[in-house]
Amino acid sequence: MNGSTFGTGHIVGGNLGINRETSEIPFSRPFPKKATANIEEMMGRIPRPLRIIGAGAAVCLGGIFTLSLVSSVTIRTLQAAAEAKRKKVALPCTVCKGRGYYICKLCKGNSTIEWSPLYDPIVINPCVCPTCEGNRVQRCLNCIGKGYV
Ligand SMILES: [Zn+2]
Ligand SMILES: [Zn+2]
Repeated sequence: MNGSTFGTGHIVGGNLGINRETSEIPFSRPFPKKATANIEEMMGRIPRPLRIIGAGAAVCLGGIFTLSLVSSVTIRTLQAAAEAKRKKVALPCTVCKGRGYYICKLCKGNSTIEWSPLYDPIVINPCVCPTCEGNRVQRCLNCIGKGYV
């Protein structure tokens, strides 16, 4: 009687819970066990949700980085193109004769000025020119140092 009951375990399973369990486990276990093992191998034993979040963040950061890189390169290229175009049609600056710089007007190329804080002729000291900071030249204000307008 026991033998026949075991054979038809799925029919009378309701009465013999233990039998049903033991008969089901060999069928249901191998697949999930194998799948879990594969996932663990693939993910390097790091919990799956963390991997997904990490991968998502990496993708997002990579995308942002790529976008910013591409946009900055595009902007630079466009600026360079616009600059080249302007340079082609522009006339050389007459104030600086196309050099972009001219001799400092404040110090007249001396790099220092005679400056007195007290308006006292006795304590006049040579100071570094505040306009050219001692470079003896100042950026052309007409062309903003580009040499053309
Ligand atoms: Zn100067
Ligand atoms: Zn100029």
